[in-house]
Amino acid sequence: MSGNEEVKATGGILLVLSAPTGGGKTTIAHRLVKEDPRIRFSVSHTTRRPRPGEREGVDYHFVDDAAFSAMVEAGEFLEWAQVHNHRYGTHRSQRDDAIGHGETLLLDIDVQGGLQVKRADPGAVLVFILPPSLDVLLDRLGRRSEEPGFDLPTRLRSALKELESASVYDYNVLNGDLDTAVRQVRSILEAARLRPSGISGYAHRLNEEIALWLRSHDVHRF
Ligand code: 5GP
Repeated sequence: MSGNEEVKATGGILLVLSAPTGGGKTTIAHRLVKEDPRIRFSVSHTTRRPRPGEREGVDYHFVDDAAFSAMVEAGEFLEWAQVHNHRYGTHRSQRDDAIGHGETLLLDIDVQGGLQVKRADPGAVLVFILPPSLDVLLDRLGRRSEEPGFDLPTRLRSALKELESASVYDYNVLNGDLDTAVRQVRSILEAARLRPSGISGYAHRLNEEIALWLRSHDVHRF
């Protein structure tokens, strides 16, 4: 192994991004996935109807209430929650596939789900994205006001509730400038990949190589 060989992370990571509505986490999530081939976007199941432009199996797996309930009964979800009158869940296969390939699974989910993921896998990295100010939050929410059933006070009340969870997440990232926020989440991920659990395969390999080197170089001479 040469001295400058890059250490490749071998362990998979669950990276959870949550934010109050209008926090801008979905934009950050898309940027992360686009810029790093080792990040896989977790496609959730939901009982809500597709919005214009959303595709089955890409944005979500759209299912009816009965199908969702059957999956809950069968214990197929890593986590699930009710958000704004609909149910959303992360299927266990999403995690198993990504982790099995040593990849990072990016979960764009709400705080109820984030906390469930942390209980199931304490090694999961939880990042809470915060809008930089009330004005920005109101502005981002205002752009969604055309959506059917949209109600600003309801959204703000749920933002209040979700913000309470920011302090129990591992990291808080302020989403004022998008490039900065993306860079900060990437740094968090880079640090997580360097945890012993992430590169234990590397430490093990190096260990074997040292032992082999000592055997083949007649250690008694040293
Ligand atoms: P939307 O309907 O706008 O796509 O999502 C509404 C909220 O549900 C967002 O906060 C989104 O992050 C969250 N969400 C999406 N998928 C999941 C999931 O699988 N589990 C949980 N707990 N929340 C989710």
